[in-house]
Amino acid sequence: MAEKKGRVFSGARPTGRQHLGNYLGAIRNYVALQDEYNCIYSIVDIHALTTMETTHDLRGNTIEMALDWLAAGIKPEESIVFVQSHVPEVMELHTLLSMVTPLGKLIELPTFKEKIKQQPKNVNYGLVGYPVLMTADIVLYRAEAVPVGIDQAPHLEFAREIVRSFNHRYQTDVLIEPQMKKTRVPKVIGTDGQQKMSKSLNNHIELAASPEETLARVKTMVTDPQRVRRNDPGDPDVCNVFSLHKAFSSEEEVQMVNTECRRAGIGCVDCKILLAKNLNAHLEPFRERRAELAKDPDYIWDVLYDGAARASVIAKDTMRDVRAAVGLPERKDESQ
Ligand code: SF4
Repeated sequence: MAEKKGRVFSGARPTGRQHLGNYLGAIRNYVALQDEYNCIYSIVDIHALTTMETTHDLRGNTIEMALDWLAAGIKPEESIVFVQSHVPEVMELHTLLSMVTPLGKLIELPTFKEKIKQQPKNVNYGLVGYPVLMTADIVLYRAEAVPVGIDQAPHLEFAREIVRSFNHRYQTDVLIEPQMKKTRVPKVIGTDGQQKMSKSLNNHIELAASPEETLARVKTMVTDPQRVRRNDPGDPDVCNVFSLHKAFSSEEEVQMVNTECRRAGIGCVDCKILLAKNLNAHLEPFRERRAELAKDPDYIWDVLYDGAARASVIAKDTMRDVRAAVGLPERKDESQ
């Protein structure tokens, strides 16, 4: 096996069953990265608490998401897959990093301002400190690189600033400044044809949906609004069905839709049926594997516990060095 290039970290909130947006935006890339890097993938449940109104679904969502990740091809024997809160050192590092992070900067971040607008009645302390916890997630595991899309680049830049502040304040090089691994993260639009695909907007198509459910969801997709009648020519460039064809259909089919839509040679219903057929064919191996894995939930928990144990080894090592760099009194388990 070729030597890997280094360690990559990425995390995602436990949102339960994953949809096409999650797949095209993250999971597909997670799977591919495993060939080149030692990957650490975290289900960041503590982050989820900053915006959740209720935690009833948290455990169920965690297991559903892990199932999707494994079924999609994340290999637990190669990559570390774990739940953020199972390695509590991240909370300790978050606190220590918060001492070198200016509050003024945190409250000026565009993402924080956006969150205030989204949940004005729940502007909690965790929401402000979110970027600090995110930094702790990355540096705790000494990740050299983080895959980020263009949208998230400022977040990682801020994480790098926090690392520099910490290393400067304590005159150390104990924390690694993570590098950006620029990744093309397509914005996947939902069935409404307008907003980013999201469960909360109910405009999503689940990976684990049955072929019939998938067809039904695809049939609800909004198409080119100018194409009112079957004989009206359409514009695939403004149609989200066409965007998904580009991700899941063959080159010939994409060409055909591109040409025939413009001259009203294909109707939207047929175009959607073709998309659903290709989507179902693409997802069939995933669904089979998922159904197999779902028969044994204990296995999924074992994977997550094993991942946490492996992540803990790295985390404990980092924290020993971090505590020493800060000058905290030695703990009993560190003094022997
Ligand atoms: Fe969209 Fe296909 Fe209808 Fe063209 S034919 S508007 S690409 S659904």
